[in-house]
Amino acid sequence: MERTSSLESLAAEEAGADTGEGQEVKRALVVTAHPDDSEFGCGGTAALWSRQGWEFYQLICSNGAKGSADPAMTPERLAPLRREEQRAAARRLGVKDVFFLDYEDGELTYSRELLGQVVRHIRLIRPHAVFTHDPETVIVRDSFVNHADHRCAGLVAIDAVYPAARDRWNFPEHLKEGLEPHNVKEIYIWSYDKANFTVDITDVVELKIQALMEHKTQFGEGTEFLQYVKDRWRDESGRYLERFRRVVLFR
Ligand SMILES: [Zn+2]
Repeated sequence: MERTSSLESLAAEEAGADTGEGQEVKRALVVTAHPDDSEFGCGGTAALWSRQGWEFYQLICSNGAKGSADPAMTPERLAPLRREEQRAAARRLGVKDVFFLDYEDGELTYSRELLGQVVRHIRLIRPHAVFTHDPETVIVRDSFVNHADHRCAGLVAIDAVYPAARDRWNFPEHLKEGLEPHNVKEIYIWSYDKANFTVDITDVVELKIQALMEHKTQFGEGTEFLQYVKDRWRDESGRYLERFRRVVLFR
C-alpha cells in the first residue's frame, strides 16, 4: 500500500523530532473509521494545536466506498475520490500526513491484522496522544446510532494504545523493522455524553467547516447541513467547542 513510502520518510525524521530548543515535538495520531470522521471529531483541535507546534497524523481504517446514495457513483470510483478529499481536508487543518488502511467501508471488524496495523503506526509515529471514536456507545441520546465501523475503529485504537503498542512481544515482527514499543500518554475520545475535556475551537471553526467542505462527495454544496452541525458545536456563550473524554495513561 502506498503509505509505506510516507512511513519510511517519517521513520527517517524520527531522530530529529524536536523544536531545536531541546523540547520534544508532541505528536498526535487520529484513528478513524472513514474519511471525514477526523474532521468532525477533532478537526478544530487538530488545526489549533498544529498552530501551537503539535504534529497531527491521521490513520483512516476504511476506504469510505459506500458513502454515496448517487446511483451513478460506484465504490470503485468513490474510494480514490474520498482519499483525495481526505488529503485536501488534512492540508486545510495543517495535518502532517494521512495514512489509509483501505478496509471495506461498512465491513470493519476487529481483527488481529487491523490491531497490528494500528500498533505499527503508533510505533512509527510515536504519538503523545491518540484521538479516536467512542467504542462504547451504540445508541446516542435515543436519536442516532454510533456506526459499527466507528465502534470498531475506536476499540482497536484503544487496544492498540494499551497494551499492544507498549508490549515488546505483541507484534514482535515490528522489531525487525526497527519499530520499538511505544507508550501513548493520552487518549482523546470524541464523546457524546462522557466528555471531561473541552477545546475552544472558536478561532478555527471556519477552518473546520472548510476542511469538512473538502469532502465534496459527502456534502457537495451542503452548507445547510454544515451550518446545522456548526450550531451543535456552539455553547450558550457563543463559543465553539470540541468535547472529548480524555484518558491520561502516563504522566
Ligand atoms: Zn464515519
